[in-house]
Amino acid sequence: MRVTKMYAPTLREVPSEAEIASHQLLLRAGFMRKSTNGMYTYLPLAWRVIKKIEAIIREEMDNKGAQEIMMPIMQPAEIWQESGRWGAYGAEMIRLKDRHGHEYCLGPTHEEMVTTVVKNDVRSYRQLPLNLYQIQDKFRDERRPRFGLMRSRDFIMKDAYSFDRDEAGLEQSYQEMYDAYTKIFTRCGLNFRPVEADSGAIGGSGASHEFMVLAESGEAEIVYCSACDYAADVEKAELHTITAPEEAELPMEKVVTPDCKTIADVCAYLQAPVDHSMKAVAFQSEKGLILCFVRGDHEVNEIKVINTVGVNEVEMAEPELLAKAGTVGGYMGPVGMDPKKVIIVVDQSVMQMHNICCGANEEGYHYINVNPGRDFTPTYVADIRLMAEGDPCPHCGAPVKKARGIEVGQVFKLFTKYSQAMHATYLDENGKEQPMVMGCYGIGVGRTMAAAVEQNNDKDGMIWPAAIAPYHVLVVPVNIKDEASNAKAEEIYQTLQKAGLEVVIDDRKERPGVKFKDADLIGYPLRVVVGPKTLTTGELEVKVRRTGEVKMLPLGSDYASALKEMLHSL
Ligand code: ATP
Ligand code: MG
Repeated sequence: MRVTKMYAPTLREVPSEAEIASHQLLLRAGFMRKSTNGMYTYLPLAWRVIKKIEAIIREEMDNKGAQEIMMPIMQPAEIWQESGRWGAYGAEMIRLKDRHGHEYCLGPTHEEMVTTVVKNDVRSYRQLPLNLYQIQDKFRDERRPRFGLMRSRDFIMKDAYSFDRDEAGLEQSYQEMYDAYTKIFTRCGLNFRPVEADSGAIGGSGASHEFMVLAESGEAEIVYCSACDYAADVEKAELHTITAPEEAELPMEKVVTPDCKTIADVCAYLQAPVDHSMKAVAFQSEKGLILCFVRGDHEVNEIKVINTVGVNEVEMAEPELLAKAGTVGGYMGPVGMDPKKVIIVVDQSVMQMHNICCGANEEGYHYINVNPGRDFTPTYVADIRLMAEGDPCPHCGAPVKKARGIEVGQVFKLFTKYSQAMHATYLDENGKEQPMVMGCYGIGVGRTMAAAVEQNNDKDGMIWPAAIAPYHVLVVPVNIKDEASNAKAEEIYQTLQKAGLEVVIDDRKERPGVKFKDADLIGYPLRVVVGPKTLTTGELEVKVRRTGEVKMLPLGSDYASALKEMLHSL
């Protein structure tokens, strides 16, 4: 490839909406362009990276016996009605009608579709196990598309689905996918960690792991143990109940607390310790208002609330809704609330506390000496707390640490959630009908590319891991007026190309500084400089993008092999 021919329009200024490195750099270096909110066109350089990631995925999936298929993007409403998710999926699903008025969606995922395909043809235990996958665009009308390819509305996903006879089979399929994912992300040159995860709307009740690329810009928060190998998405991290020392129950009192809107204000004003206070968070959901209560110094875990109450999604409650339920923001409390009108979810540790202070559902007032059981009745008592740094590890008790991660892949055990709802059954050895036991496994291909940039960049640009770099080597003729060295550069370019290296020559009539700047921005793993000096010394100057290390290779040597050798370690 010649830079004069390459379609990689660089930008001097990136739009201010590009907040994180990958978003900025992929735009600046001409890898992609935004088409509309949350949708991008991949330009040639990005597409080369995507194809390399896909090739790695295909190899590792095929190695595990998975088989590639391609399903339609547009899916009929009926199959989603059959699984019960047409209603449940919510606003993230893009729905449309054809000219006959039939309803469809643009696939946000393909469990329904693949289950329909398999159930129509698989009859016998002899046809199982089966693992089918595709690499395809998915559509999700995300509430907040952002960070470029990290959270877009049209994105490329590898989705795989396994069908087994029983749970032991699923266990094996799951483990194989877990191992394949570990290989895939390792080969992509990523620093990642598999963590225990919530299985969300797609999953059944089963286990799930997310593959997290560790990066400050990650949207996910993970906790990991400082002593053992426990690691979990903070959404999922389970907490034990905290017991509080016994105390005599004091009579409940209503007290004036002017201008005390936060827990800190209230505790300071009433001189109450924070572990005798309760924090409230109000959500609205399809089941109505949900009031959640945790200890004053704890935080509410939204996902645990969703799972406890069994709703599809929650949003912060509007003040009008609070007023209708007889309460007010900043002063919410469980005392006197009608559990028939409001869903009251109380954290398990709150139930152990005594003589608590909490809002009195009236502007400017709190109650003190509230005692659970005596003074209020929860609809649900559950673990709804968000794990914090320093909390005890659920496996070994050592304090946990927090880190941020980018979820590039997830593996789920679905068990019979879809096969039961959609009647995907087979006949076992005894001729008895059994539901297939399923798993599903996703990788965000575009997000993986973006995550690679997040982990591999510096002030000058991107630093591609060799395995997924758009090209391996850039040859830079540095003196455009010097014909002899330009001819040498051309010869080297041809030699490297013949040797099977993916090579680009910067044949523009530009100053070396401009060429070097673009080389660093695009992030070619190796840069070869050719000038008049090359001819006099008989040596090629090779610079490693990642380390800045410069190596001289004799022109008379097999420098192509030497470059290949260097790439292996990058
Ligand atoms: P998230 O929690 O980030 O929304 P998810 O749990 O909804 O992700 P899955 O349904 O497990 O995602 O999809 C499989 C993979 O697809 C994810 O691990 C992620 O890498 C990718 N992915 C999901 N949503 C998006 C998106 N909006 N843009 C880009 N990639 C995405
Ligand atoms: Mg999502």
